[in-house]
Amino acid sequence: MRDINIEIVEVGLRDGLQNDPAMLDTDGKLDFIDRLIASGVRRMEVASFVNPKRVPQMADSSDLMTRVPRDKGVTYIGLALNDKGMERALAAKCDEVNFVVVASDTFGLRNQNATPEQSLEVFANLAGAAQQADTPCSIVIGAVWGCPFEGEVPVDKVVRIAARAAELGASEIGLADSIGVADPWEVKRRVEAVQKVTGDIPLRCHFHNTRNTGIANASAAIDAGVRILDASCGGIGGCPFAPGATGNIATEDLAYMLERAGFQTGIDLPRLIETANWLETALDHSVPAMVSKAGLFPKAAA
Ligand code: ZN
Repeated sequence: MRDINIEIVEVGLRDGLQNDPAMLDTDGKLDFIDRLIASGVRRMEVASFVNPKRVPQMADSSDLMTRVPRDKGVTYIGLALNDKGMERALAAKCDEVNFVVVASDTFGLRNQNATPEQSLEVFANLAGAAQQADTPCSIVIGAVWGCPFEGEVPVDKVVRIAARAAELGASEIGLADSIGVADPWEVKRRVEAVQKVTGDIPLRCHFHNTRNTGIANASAAIDAGVRILDASCGGIGGCPFAPGATGNIATEDLAYMLERAGFQTGIDLPRLIETANWLETALDHSVPAMVSKAGLFPKAAA
């Protein structure tokens, strides 16, 4: 596994902070970004172009994008749920836009006032503008393993959305367990079902640790061939529109598991643990991640 690279996309600035009571201000977010860059992170979701009244933590997204360091080889991702969000993300010069299509009608209507079909239609209408701006767009499918309102989500529905996302030219397709209900075996089954319709388009997985299955799910996704995973420093996060949702899998726990197994992540673990410790102070509460509490193994040479 020594020559297998796994790309970890840090989502703490977006998925993490958007549901945190601490309300980190723009300067605090820039400090967090600098520390993540020093820890080896090279791709991160930092902005969300949603209604600031609904998600006040993300209200400074455009301002933040004008101030992020642009000379460090970092890709900054902005999230969009509709046409307005996509236009704002492009105007803010995000390096990449992640457009969300929720795999369940009820969750889609509550999250972004659109069914999956309507969201795909919006994406189809805006793909040209993104192409003109030379901005890659990923489609992230939400609630792939279950919906907080409808319960089970049929795999056929997920596969249909993924096939259409591929047809529309998504640069990458994300599969998100938005409410943390997946199990590792179903992760493997759904990833394999989606791979059949997405060709060479890279798949990326996004797991929440709500029921303590997140890290096992990440391992199952890698076994199924996924090479890109989302995680948040400290395991912070949630979703304001999904009842009971808790944090993402923690970046340091994921990086530890992968590096221990011989994968390459590019993450400097001692630095990332320092960042997670700083985050506890900045947010003024503890974070759920575990490696930062237990320490590394084997101990790094002093
Ligand atoms: Zn999430």
